[in-house]
Amino acid sequence: MINFSKAKFVKSAPTYNEKPEKNLKEIVFVGKSNVGKSSLINALVNNRKMAFTSGKPGYTKLLNYFEIDEKFYLVDAPGYGYTASGSKHLDNFSKMMETYFDNPSLAGVVFIVDSRHNMSEDDKGFYDFIVDKGIPFILVASKADKLNQSEKAKIKKHIEVEMGIESFVLASSTNGVGLEDIKAKISQIL
Ligand code: GDP
Repeated sequence: MINFSKAKFVKSAPTYNEKPEKNLKEIVFVGKSNVGKSSLINALVNNRKMAFTSGKPGYTKLLNYFEIDEKFYLVDAPGYGYTASGSKHLDNFSKMMETYFDNPSLAGVVFIVDSRHNMSEDDKGFYDFIVDKGIPFILVASKADKLNQSEKAKIKKHIEVEMGIESFVLASSTNGVGLEDIKAKISQIL
């Protein structure tokens, strides 16, 4: 299993054509802004500053490549958005990302949603998109430390019963719950 003991930032790239030179598989992390994506990446690699939250100009609009254990690239992707009125058409920003998902090196997606809320229309749109494309994914419900038992049962029901998604990881970057499970699932995909 990959234990995330060695992690380094490699580069930021506007598209996958400018990705780093090593021929490694990629796992991309995707979620709406503020969902806890940067905190999760930092917690996985045990480095509070690796995925700079918003400090670096342009950071959040680019694909940010980290090399993990010399085994794969963890890619911190820009957030997604869809046009209004429930349409499945991707907005301009997402069009840039859409080309990313045709990247032959892409092995899977870590798709992060907020455990305190049902999946938003944007979340559902992105979910349909990756299912359509047949891309393996790991669904992570973040900020689990904020939930009590009945709230945990509620999000589980929403994801498994209402959304029909077979498995997900309830995770917290704050107390570390779920992190080992995410690492194991990433190792499996790779
Ligand atoms: P990003 O925009 O998706 O990269 O989100 P950030 O990682 O910057 O987190 C957004 C906010 O949520 C910050 O105030 C974090 O401190 C907070 N946050 C992130 N993860 C957790 C978590 O697991 N538990 C709690 N309680 N707060 C979190």
